[in-house]
Parts: sequence; C-alpha cells; structure tokens
Amino acid sequence: MMFAPTYLQARRDFRRQALALGAEVQAIEIEAGGLRAEDGSRLSIEIASFGEAPKALVISSGLHGVEGFAGSAVQSLCMQRGWPQDRRLVLLHALNPAGMSSLRRVNENNVDLNRNFLAPGESYCGSPEHYARLNSLLNPKRPVSALEFSMRSAWQIARFGYGALKQAIAGGQYDYPEGLFWGGDCLQEGPQKLLALLPELLADVEQIDWIDVHTGLGVSGEPTYLVEASKSSADYKVLRERFGERVQAWDEDDGVAYAIRGGFPGALKEIFGDRLTMLTCEFGTIKATRVLRNLISDNQVYHYGGDQSLAAKRMRDAFDRQTPAWRQRVLLRAGALLDRCFIEG
Ligand SMILES: [Zn+2]
Repeated sequence: MMFAPTYLQARRDFRRQALALGAEVQAIEIEAGGLRAEDGSRLSIEIASFGEAPKALVISSGLHGVEGFAGSAVQSLCMQRGWPQDRRLVLLHALNPAGMSSLRRVNENNVDLNRNFLAPGESYCGSPEHYARLNSLLNPKRPVSALEFSMRSAWQIARFGYGALKQAIAGGQYDYPEGLFWGGDCLQEGPQKLLALLPELLADVEQIDWIDVHTGLGVSGEPTYLVEASKSSADYKVLRERFGERVQAWDEDDGVAYAIRGGFPGALKEIFGDRLTMLTCEFGTIKATRVLRNLISDNQVYHYGGDQSLAAKRMRDAFDRQTPAWRQRVLLRAGALLDRCFIEG
C-alpha cells in the first residue's frame, strides 16, 4: 500500500521496500522533546541510498509533517518503478517525523521547518508587514465558525488584496511562536542533523536533481513545481524547458507561490551550489481558503484545547486527501515527473 495510514506504518513500509531492493538505509533519530512513535520507538528520518553514480536524484518527503503521506507514496512509487542504472537514487523519508506522526504540518516546537533554514548570521526575528494585523484572524484563542472565518477573511482580502495577503500570511514569521508559519527561534534538531549529514552523503555526486514533495497548494491532485528563481531569470527558463509548464517561479503573477524566508531550497543551494537543481513539488488538495481555515483550527486546538480528532481530520483533508481518485492522480502525475527527471539523462 503506497499511502500509509500512519507515520509508523509509512516508515516500516519504506524501510522494508528499500532494504528489499538492496539500499543502504540509515536513520537519523530525532529526540523531539521526548515524543515517540506509536510503538514507543524514537522518531526518525530514514535515508535510503541506492548505487553510486555522478548524477543523483534525491526525493525528500514530509518536511511539513502531515504532507509526508503523499511524499512517502511518491518515494514508494519511484522504488517500484525503478530508475536508470547511471543514476544514484537517494530518498529522505519524513524530514519532520514529529509532525507526520501527530498529523501536524509543523514540528514538535510548532516550527514550520520550511521557514526554519535562515542563512548564517540572519536573526530569527521579524514578520511580514501585515502579519500583526492578521494575528487575531490567523491565531484565534477560541474556535471560529466557517461563516465567521469566511466573512473576516473576505474583509481582509478586500482590504489588502489576495497577493499581499498570501505573502503576509505564509511568507514566514519569527515573532509569534504560537502562530501559523512560525520559523522558530533557532535551527531545529531535525534540520540541524540533516544538514550536518548531507555534504558527505552526496560528496561524490556532480549533479543533483532534488524533488521535495509537499501538498496543499494548487489544483486538487495536480502538481506545481515551485522553483527558487524569478520568472525573468535564466534558471527559470532552463527549468521550464526541462520540466515544462508546471514550473512556477515564486513571483508568478497569478501563481500559487509566495516568497518565503528560511526555506529548505536556499539551505541546500548553500551546500551544493550549482550542482543542485531543485523543485518543490506541490500537489493541490482543497481550496486555499479551506486549507488555511483547517490550519487555523489545528493550531487553535493544539494551543488552547478543543476537539483533537476533528482537527486531525481537517489536517488530513487539507494535506492528505483520503479519496482513491486523488491518490491515483497524485501517483500518475508523480510518475510523469519521474520520467522527466530521467529523460534528460
Ligand atoms: Zn509544504
């Protein structure tokens, strides 16, 4: 089964499949403030590495916890389909195991890990211009009804415009530890351990294609390939040629993306430089405003109490749709992306 029901099951399936195919598998154990998997074992990021070659494809999953179910399924699909012998394949499973096991998008400290990788010397403070004004909408201390939420968000959209609002909300903030899209106050345990290990893991590789799988942005079941480049850059043109029209620059006018601080791609670029080509592959789930509302409700319940099983169900809806049609679509599109990665050779 490719879409696992729990983090623990996903990890077991991943290890079993990788080992059966002869991978070298290692685990980075995460203390996560004492959090454990359902069987009492420590949480971990698994790394499966296949073969030696100057060109590598790396697929990572679960940087955003609950989004890891789709990422894990894509990794499983890749192992099942096989890959060219002149490629090295490296799979990083569940980069945020605490979030994945608790069906949250953030880690054990409420940190959004894709906002956590600030450049050396950059300080963990500051927020987008309008975040403070939106704080009560984004981080209410009591449950907010769907009607109230849609009225209040419609008002904010009218006031700021959708693009500015998207940026203010999701760009990453470092001033509200209990709020959404908080980038943390230091580099977190998981990212720290991962970054320490990566240079050696890929030391002999000359060219790295990296796909970081996410969910929650875009049209249901359809992927968007977000790149850390502006649409006027040469990089963007090259990526469009190679990966097609699904490639989207962060500054696309009507796109789903927004500029973020402390993103994972930036940290990888720092390590690998021009050896790296990176796509953040986003599979759409439900409407953006519903994703946001479900995130708000999960965060509210986590900090102030409430119906946890409802919050968990909403997180699944927003980031791991439970329908066969959605899952089939995701795997179909992931297969097409893998083909593109391997065509170029
Ligand atoms: Zn994500």
